Formats: sequence, C-alpha cells, structure tokens
Amino acid sequence: MDAAKYIWMNGEFKAWNEAQTHVLSHTIHYGNGVIEGTKAYKTADGYAIFRLNDHTKRLKESAKMTLINIPYTVEEMNEAQIELIKRNEFTGDNVYLRPFAFLGYGVMGVYHKDAPVETVMAAWEWGAYLGEEGLKSGIKLKIASMTRPANTSNMGKAKATANYLNSQMAKYEAIDCGYDEALLLDDQGYVAEASGASFFMVKDGVIITPPNDNSLVSITQKTVIEIAQDMGYEVIHRRISREEVYIADEAFLTGTAAEITPVRNIDARIIGEGSRGPITEQIQSTYFDIVFGRNEKYKHYLTYI
Ligand code: PMP
Repeated sequence: MDAAKYIWMNGEFKAWNEAQTHVLSHTIHYGNGVIEGTKAYKTADGYAIFRLNDHTKRLKESAKMTLINIPYTVEEMNEAQIELIKRNEFTGDNVYLRPFAFLGYGVMGVYHKDAPVETVMAAWEWGAYLGEEGLKSGIKLKIASMTRPANTSNMGKAKATANYLNSQMAKYEAIDCGYDEALLLDDQGYVAEASGASFFMVKDGVIITPPNDNSLVSITQKTVIEIAQDMGYEVIHRRISREEVYIADEAFLTGTAAEITPVRNIDARIIGEGSRGPITEQIQSTYFDIVFGRNEKYKHYLTYI
C-alpha cells in the first residue's frame, strides 16, 4: 500500500508509522471491530469526499450493533477526516479513507465491555479496487462455495471486521480458481453481495439488485439506484436466484472501492457480449462524473475540502 503522512488516532494526528497498537489488543484476538470505506476524489475544485456523512453515520451504527461505544460524534469524525485529507497533501485522483474503531489493550477473554475503544481515521492513495482493466472490460465472478452467514448468527448490516472472514475465504477461493471476485449467496440460495461490493444485473432493460436482507446497506447501491431511476430506468429491488444471474444481459458490481465494475463472466457463463454492457457503461460514466464533481445535480453528495 502507499503510505501517507498522518493518521488520526483518538483525537490526535500521528505520523503514519507511529499509529500503533499492542499485539494483545482485544480485536486482534476476538475480531470485534468496525470499519468504513469512504472515498475522496480530486475534482477541478480540489478534493471532495463522496457521501462523507452517510459513511461516518454508518460507522457509528455498525459500532452500536456490535456494542462498541465510539466516544466521538459523527460531526467530530467528519471534521477529523476533512483535516486528514488536508494534512496529508495528497496529489493523486483517488484517495481512500478508512475510518474504524477497534478494541484495544487491557482486557482478555471474550467479554469486551471494559476493553478500551480505539478510534482511527486513515487515508491513502488507492486506485481501482478491481483494476483499471476491470473497469473497462469487466471482471470474472465466481459464486463462492460458502454462503453469507445466516441472519440468525450474524450481523451482515454492520460493516464489522468479523464479517470479512467470510469475504476473505470467498475472495481467496475465487482468485485461486482463476476468477477476479466472489459472489456470495445467502443461506436460502439467493444473491447476497460480492465479497466487498453489491451486485446488480440487467434483464430486458430492467435493472435488478437484491434487497439488503443479508448484506451491507450499501451507500453506492443506493446512489446507483437513484441515478438509474433519474435516467429513466426501472430499478427493482428483489431477490435474485443463481439461474437468473447466469442469463443476465449485463451485470456489474458497485461499491465505494469497486465503483461501477462490469462483470463479463459468471461461473464460466459469458454475460451479454462478454464485455462492459451499454447500461453499465452509462451508469459508470455518470457515477464518475458525480464523484469527480462534474454533475451539478448530485453536488450535494460532495464535501469539498
Ligand atoms: N458489501 C460489502 C461486503 C462491502 O464490503 C462493501 C464495501 N463497503 C459493499 C457491499 C458496498 O458498500 P458501499 O457501497 O457502501 O461501499
């Protein structure tokens, strides 16, 4: 990864290499932590963070779900992220922000009530999550052998560190099998989400995306629904079965890091023409116009630094 200059940790800016924790920190052992993934883009008027407040609010909500008491308000954390972008003096087009909270050193054993909460905001320059080529030509997706954990034993709506064990296993398997990314079904066999992104498909001109019954409530998914509807497309939020995925006309993944990544192949089935589909391309180019501040209508989603 590309190091930056400063990391905000518990209210202070620290030099990148000095933002550290003890090896016996609670989260390293028992996995209860919460993260966000937010992005800042270099617009013609300087850096702007996309949907900053929505991301920070989701961090607070994830923490509430997992019983971590973050001692900062959403406003304080927003300010910290704005200042972080300023102080790091980035130069590239893409800056990824990783606000997070974890349980620190001092308590062992699963019961975590007395473990200290550490709050951190980090940022660094990070390009296309699924590669520049993937954005243009599409990626290969494999339906993972593991499902998303059932709602009876998991909190999929929390952006919780622990949920990424499932994501990691699925992604590793997909790449090891020659694919680029994993698509996870829920325990009922319907599409949940990719290992770090949401799923969309197009059939007969209609855009379909699964409900968030067993997935993160994705901010990019909401944005894409809004822009697609504004373009006049019908967007349906409903369950999707494996067979439907295979015969989609187009498919794409969405996420803060994944942005709008076309899917060209799912489990050896060619999707559409096996390249970026026309509706995908239209949504992708609109999305980039929005995040780079080139679309007046959605400027309210940008926090300029
Ligand atoms: N699902 C998972 C599991 C993710 O990690 C992400 C990335 N945060 C998403 C969906 C997409 O969420 P968002 O659009 O809010 O980045």
